[in-house]
Amino acid sequence: MNTRQQFQQFLAQTSPEPVALHITSAHGNYLFDADGKRYIDLIGGISVCNVGHCHPDVVRAIQAQSEQYLHVMVYGELIQTPQLAFARKITGLLPESFESVYFTNSGAEACEAALKLARRVTARPHVLAAHNSYHGHTLGALSVMGSEYWRNAYRPLLPGVFHYEYGSDEFLDAVNGQVSCVLIETVQSEAGIRAPHKAWLQQLRERCDTHGVLLIMDEIQTGFGRTGTMWGFEQYGIVPDMILLGKALGGGMPMGALVTSRKLMDHFTFQPVLGHMTTFGGHPVCCAAGLAALEVLEREQLAQKVREKEQLFHELLQHRAIVEVRSCGLLMAIELPDNAAVLRVLKSAMHLGVFSDWFLFADNCIRIAPPLTISEADIREACAILLQCIGELA
Ligand code: PLP
Repeated sequence: MNTRQQFQQFLAQTSPEPVALHITSAHGNYLFDADGKRYIDLIGGISVCNVGHCHPDVVRAIQAQSEQYLHVMVYGELIQTPQLAFARKITGLLPESFESVYFTNSGAEACEAALKLARRVTARPHVLAAHNSYHGHTLGALSVMGSEYWRNAYRPLLPGVFHYEYGSDEFLDAVNGQVSCVLIETVQSEAGIRAPHKAWLQQLRERCDTHGVLLIMDEIQTGFGRTGTMWGFEQYGIVPDMILLGKALGGGMPMGALVTSRKLMDHFTFQPVLGHMTTFGGHPVCCAAGLAALEVLEREQLAQKVREKEQLFHELLQHRAIVEVRSCGLLMAIELPDNAAVLRVLKSAMHLGVFSDWFLFADNCIRIAPPLTISEADIREACAILLQCIGELA
C-alpha cells in the first residue's frame, strides 16, 4: 500500500475526495510536501497559524514546558503556571468584564461550555443562532449550526434552538424573555465572509440587555488579530457577555476557551459542584504555546499590519471572472461563478504551489486566511498564480 492508500485505509475518511497532500514540514508561510515542493499557505490551517507555522518562540515554549511537566491533573484542581499566565494575559487584552477563562481542547467544546453556562445562568429554554453559522461539530454545536443539510442527519438535536437570518430584523424581534442566549459569529466565516452592520449588532446588544439574554460571540476565527484588531467585536462598539476562542489561540496546538465574567463563570462551581469538566482542557504545553504565540502577535504587531495586506489582496485580485472579493482583514472570500470553477482553480493553484480551500456554506468561494505573517512578495506570488488559474477557466 502506498502512503495515500494507507491514509485512506487507516484514518477515518470524512470526504470522498480528500486533498491528501502529504505534508512533511511547515515553516512560516509555507507548507512542504514529501517531494520537498513548497506551497504558499493561503489558509493557515483554517485561521489557526496566525504567527506562521512553527514560529521559533512557540516551538521553544513547547520544548521548555515539555521538560517541566505534561498532563498532571484534570482541569481546575492544581495550579499550573502556564494556564494561569495565559489566562491572565488573555483577560488583560479584553474589556474588564472578561475576568475568567475556561480552557477547552477545541472550539466546539468552548461552544458546548457556553451553551451549558447560559442555560444554567438563565434557566431559560431557547437559544437563537443564525442561518449559515458554524460553531463546531459536537452535538450541541451542531444543534446551533445554521445549516439543515448538516444538522438533519443527526437528529434529535438540542431542543429550543431557533435560527434566523444574520443581520435581519426578524432575528432582533426573536429576542425575548424565553431566550437564554444569542450565539453568533462576529463575522460569519463559513458563510463566505459575511460581516454584520454595526447598527444591527448594537441593536442586538440592546435587545439582549432589555430581555436579560446573554450575548455569546464566537471569535474562534476572528480572534487574535485576524480582522485587523485583536478581537473582531472591538470594531462594532459592543461588548458581548461571553466569547468563544479557539483556532489561533493555541499557536498551532489544540485549544479552545470560553471567556466571561467571574459572576457568570461561578455558576460552574456550585449546584452541581464541578459543573463543567475536562481532562485535557488547558493542557500546559498548549497554554505555553498559546502564550508564546500571543506575545509574538503583539511584538511583531501583526494585527496592525493586516489592513495593508488585505488592501494588497484587493488591488491584485482583479479579474472579470471574479464575482466579488469580500473581506474582514485577512479573512477573505474570492467569489467565483460556481463550485466547479472553485475546484478547478484550487486544483491548478495547488499544482503551481498555492494551497487554499473553499467554505462550508459558500462552495463558490475561495478561502483566503493566511498566516498574518504573510509577506508582500508571497501575496503577490499567490495572487499571480490564482489569477493565472482563474484566467484558465474560460
Ligand atoms: N466556531 C467557528 C467560527 C469555527 O470556524 C470553528 C471551526 O472551524 C469552530 C467554532 C469549531 O472549532 P473546532 O473545530 O476547534 O471544534
